Formats: sequence, C-alpha cells, structure tokens
Amino acid sequence: MYINGDWERGSADASFAVLNPADGSVIAHVPDGGAERARAAIDAAADAFPAWRATTAYERAAILMKAHALMLERREKIARTMTEEQGKPLRAANTEVRYAADFLVWFAEEAKRVYGETIPSARPDQRFMVLHQPVGVVAAITPWNYPISMITRKLGPALAAGCTVVLKPAEATPLTAVETFRVFEDAGFPNGVVNLVTARDPAPVGEEFVANPKVRKLTFTGSTAVGKMLAGRAAGNMKRVSCELGGHAPFIVLGDADPVHAAKGLQLVKFLNTGQACISPNRVYVHRDGADAFLETLTGRVAKMKAGSGFEDGVTIGPLVDEAAVAKVEAQVDDAVAKGATVLCGGKRLTGNGLDKGNFYAPTVLDGVTPDMRIYREETFGPVAAVVRFDDGDDILAMANDTHYGLAAYIYSQNLARTMRLLEGLDFGIVGINDINPASAAAPFGGMKDSGLGREGSREGIAEYLETKVAGFSI
Ligand code: NAD
Repeated sequence: MYINGDWERGSADASFAVLNPADGSVIAHVPDGGAERARAAIDAAADAFPAWRATTAYERAAILMKAHALMLERREKIARTMTEEQGKPLRAANTEVRYAADFLVWFAEEAKRVYGETIPSARPDQRFMVLHQPVGVVAAITPWNYPISMITRKLGPALAAGCTVVLKPAEATPLTAVETFRVFEDAGFPNGVVNLVTARDPAPVGEEFVANPKVRKLTFTGSTAVGKMLAGRAAGNMKRVSCELGGHAPFIVLGDADPVHAAKGLQLVKFLNTGQACISPNRVYVHRDGADAFLETLTGRVAKMKAGSGFEDGVTIGPLVDEAAVAKVEAQVDDAVAKGATVLCGGKRLTGNGLDKGNFYAPTVLDGVTPDMRIYREETFGPVAAVVRFDDGDDILAMANDTHYGLAAYIYSQNLARTMRLLEGLDFGIVGINDINPASAAAPFGGMKDSGLGREGSREGIAEYLETKVAGFSI
C-alpha cells in the first residue's frame, strides 16, 4: 500500500495472496488494508489537497507527462506483472499499458483547458463569472479485467483537475496497481496526493469511502450490483458519483453488410481479454441472408484460437479470472443448449496440457440463441459468441434495446440511412459502426441505464472531477 508517500508492506497475518489464474500458483502477498488504513489514506489525501489544488495546471501537467513517459519506459515490466496476475496474453497486456498511458498524456493536456465563462447579467451593474474547481478528495475503485487502464482513466483526470486520490484496486490484480503507483511516486506527485489501499475484503474499505465526510467524490468501475449499492450509499452522504458498470452489447450485422468482414471483427472483439470486457458483444444479431457465411468464418477462426498462459507464444485466449467465472460461463452455455442452441465450436472447459490447473473455458460459438436463454440477458464475461438470426420483418432496434444495460453496441452495414436510424435509436453510450474499437482517451466512454453514470475519457472525463462556482460581481 502507498499512503502519504510511504510504502506499507503489511505483516504476515495482515496480507493476502495474489494468484496466477493460468496455473493457480501464488505470485505474491500484498497488505490487507481495512477501514482503518482507508481512513489514514483519506486523511493523507485531505491534508495534501490544499497545496495540490493550488498548483498550476502547468505544474500538474508536467508531473502527469513524466508519469506518462515512465509508464511507457516500464511498459514491458508492467505488462509482465499484468499477465501474471490477470492472465491476458503479454501482447494484449502491452497494448493495455499503452492505452493506460494515453489517459495520462490526454489529461495532462486537458488540465490546461479547464476554462470558465463569463455570463451577461440583466442588471447593468452586475457581471457573472463561472469557474471550475477540483471537487476535493476522490475515492476510486477499479476492477481486475483492465487492471491499469481503469486506474489511469480515473486518476489521470482527477489529478489533472487538482484532486487528491485514494485508490482501491481489485483484490485479484493489486500488483499492477503497485507498479502504477511506483510510476506515480517516481514522477514526483507530492506525498498524500495519490494513495493506494489494497484489501482482500473490499466492503469495509468501500464503506469508508462512501461514509467518510472528507471524500467528496466516488468513482467506481465494476459490476452493476456493487455499483448500485455504493452509489446508493454515497447518495445518502451527498457525494458525487461516477459509475462504469456492466454491459450486454448487441452486435448487429444487417443484411447489406459483408458477413465475412463482420465475422472477422466479431472474433477479434468478442474474444479480447477472453470475453472479460464490459463492451464485449453479448448478443450477436445476424441477418438470415448472411448468417451461414458469417458463422462459417467465425467458427473457422475461433476454432483455431490457442488457449494457455499469456506468456506462451501464439496464445490468444488466456484464463478466466477464477473458478466462479468458469462455472458461470458453463452454466450459461448449458442453459442455452438445454433450450435449443447449437454449439458450433467449444462449449466445454479446457483440460490437458496443464490447463486443468488454470481457469480455462474453450472459445465457443453458439447458434440459435433465443430470448428465453440466460445468455441473452445476463452478462457472460467469458469467451462465448451467442448468435441470433433475424429476418427482414424483425424489429432489430427493439431487439437490441431489450436489456437493462446500455453500454456498448455495434452495427455492421453499408447502408448509411439505416445505420444512422439505428445509431440514433440505440439506448447505448458507445456505438461501433463497422468498427470494433470505439474507445480512446479522447472519446467519452460510459453507459446508459444500468451501465452507469457519467463518462470517462475526453473532455467530459475531467468535468466529472470539477465543481462549478459562479461569482456575481456588483460593479
Ligand atoms: P465487482 O463489482 O465485483 O468488483 C469491482 C471492484 O469493486 C473491485 O475492486 C472490488 O473489490 C470492488 N468491490 C466489490 N464489492 C465491493 C463492496 N461491497 N464495496 C466496495 N467495493 C467492492 O466487479 P468485477 O467482477 O471485479 O468486474 C467486472 C464487472 O466490471 C463487469 O460487470 C464489467 O462489465 C464491469 N466493468 C465495467 C467497465 C466500464 O467501463 N463500464 C469496465 C470494466 C469492467
């Protein structure tokens, strides 16, 4: 843990093990901080806030730029740590470190563009001026699936805005957070400006975050259930809240689309991070005209994917995070098959070649998925492409919107008018159009409905950490 500029190692009885999901081995032990350490970190952040907010945007940007450079310099080392504790292939881990660093440089630049405004008054002797100021101490909670970019997507804008921060990373991936904080330390953030609390049980730390009056803002990325609970508690204490939550993305392939191109795109985005992404397609709607060609291409490519340790050459599918995740995928596939879906490839746990020790499930393609199946409604967070064929008479917009989630959606089509109508009608915050990567530090990221509140990235991302103050001048 890193509190007020000091590293805390924890004692033998106050630490917990971090496991490698590819083989179940213990990688390291990290301190098990509870409410008391969270409080100490919040106190440090509160004490550091007045001096940090008084720095200029140029000073804060310079430190963020240094952190950006250091993160890239240490990219390989950080990526190895991530692959070891999270399981994703090393190449994907490297890509994630670059994406994480992007948030540091983007918000370093954005710090200088926190503009206010002047507003005309109806009174001739009055002037209005609006200024934006940092909200104060920010408490951040991040998930394990993107262990570094979810940190910088929050801390980059918070620090640029002039806030001080306490982070609690996911219990499965604290080591990547530790590497990130070494970067922050070496970049020169003053003591108390960034603080890291690791914990085996997140609940007491979360409760401290939502109840402690010194915390002015909670930013959370994780499941919808936990996000709703924390947002509710934080609302009771009138704290600002941003939540990036679960998703159930529709991937729509219209009849005029090239089904082979669409299948190639789906294979890349669906199996990224072994399907453990909030923007992962969960319902794949393919027009009946292109369905056979689509499924042939998709199945051919998915069947060739190689599962294993992320350190092995050629591996494109890593393990799932834990046994419970494998059991959930297995239950959704079994339920779909029992209700009439067909397994075109995969459909089982992976064993042999040392995979038994890890949490591996075969990349899977299901055909004939219907709305009564669990996989049609529940976030899978695993390597399963669930395909639904649709016809001309079907209301594809209503089908796509038929979920309480609203994070990402994808459209494949060559018809601009149909695409535009669908885009405007979709109740989702992020839409990829013939594109599988609609995310960037420069673009707003976030969901509607049960997928969250607020946006990260882009100029909206820094606004989440700013208060608005108006001054009326009598002259
Ligand atoms: P999770 O909600 O179990 O855990 C997320 C974080 O919340 C972890 O740090 C965890 O320790 C913490 N947490 C859990 N219970 C808590 C409590 N009672 N009090 C305080 N903190 C608590 O979710 P997960 O399974 O780790 O992550 C996967 C989920 O995250 C998926 O639903 C996924 O869609 C979502 N996610 C969303 C985005 C996005 O940007 N919308 C990005 C990544 C992941």
